[in-house]
Amino acid sequence: MGFLYGRAALPGGVRECDIAWDNGVFTRVAPSETRTHTTTKNDDAAPGHQAGAAAHADGGARSGAAGAAGADSGGELPEGWLILPGLVDEHCHGGGGASFPDAEDSAEVAQAAGEHLAHGTTSVAAALTTLSVERMEAGASLMADAVEDGTLAAILIEGPFLSSERAGAQNPAYLESPSVEIATRLLDAARGHAWGMTLAPELSGASEVVDLLLERGVVPTWGHTHAEAGPARELQERAVAGGAIPVATHLFNAMRELRHRAPGPVAEYLAAARRGSCVVELIGDGVHISSELVRNVVEIVGPENIALITDAMAAAGMADGTYELGGLRVHVTDGQARLRGGNLAGGTSHLLDIVRTVVGAGVELNDAVTMASATPARVMGLDDRGALEVGKRADLLVVDEELRPRRVYRAGKLVAQDGKLVA
Ligand SMILES: [Zn+2]
Repeated sequence: MGFLYGRAALPGGVRECDIAWDNGVFTRVAPSETRTHTTTKNDDAAPGHQAGAAAHADGGARSGAAGAAGADSGGELPEGWLILPGLVDEHCHGGGGASFPDAEDSAEVAQAAGEHLAHGTTSVAAALTTLSVERMEAGASLMADAVEDGTLAAILIEGPFLSSERAGAQNPAYLESPSVEIATRLLDAARGHAWGMTLAPELSGASEVVDLLLERGVVPTWGHTHAEAGPARELQERAVAGGAIPVATHLFNAMRELRHRAPGPVAEYLAAARRGSCVVELIGDGVHISSELVRNVVEIVGPENIALITDAMAAAGMADGTYELGGLRVHVTDGQARLRGGNLAGGTSHLLDIVRTVVGAGVELNDAVTMASATPARVMGLDDRGALEVGKRADLLVVDEELRPRRVYRAGKLVAQDGKLVA
């Protein structure tokens, strides 16, 4: 049993709200007054306080419950704090000094997932990168263990059928031509827990791999691609005809650029997203793409067709230094992770940092939250989470005025406070 009372990001906007849960599932999500907040700006001005106080005054039982409840079961939140759904990251390579693709045991997997959980990401999909097929199989199997014990939500297999022209931080030594046999081995190793597989649609044999993914209920995700518009559209349409809503892996990054006489894949994926038949991932950290562009894409395709992702590597939450990603050395300076040649090599943010960055750039808070919870949950087929709604898993993130993490609950249990896991 648990209970929280305060301003919450609900599907329709930010409002004062009573939230309760039992057995790890929301049992009550009830807006408790009429004022609806549509932006974060000036929400803590006098009217908000009065509304909160008024609702509090007729809620004697609530404050009594809050007083007796203790930290684990919630209570009333300080003014200015905000309740968000637990965040969902569909594309994360690591954090806290540990890397999913390079992990050798479950402790390293838990270390990386714990770093993000402590900062409000209650569902993390571990993204593997291109390594030898044997190492990718071992990685998929280790990640599958972590999905089964609840540490991870799912797996993204990013590689090995990627363009050598757009390898980015994928290890070029291990890129493969699309092969149904290799794809089958990787999917089998993931034991049904892979939500997606990233491939470059222009490679010969890609359509056979896409057919396999559709057959297995795995989302084709287009990325690390040098495709012209035609091949990009062809496979996108083939996947949609097969019943999938594909994903564009970190749109703009590791992808042929949009040029007005040679548009490449970007405009195809944006147009498909506008129709609701593609979800575009954005690494909205202000480093990988301009926050102005994030704002534009939100306006063009809407938050329900965008997943904010961290693409985080081991350095997320850590000091500058040298780290490993898929067997490559990555140097982190001023929080930017780069290969020796200067290419960006994954992110160093938590998903909440990205929410804060895009909100700071003018994206509506509720849109940012949708892109960091409901949309990626839907992409991964996690119907039981991604929003503050009765019947969903009680995953909650409580933030302060500056959108810093103060409390994190997963399945109704307090798991972190002030950015640190609760023992
Ligand atoms: Zn990635």
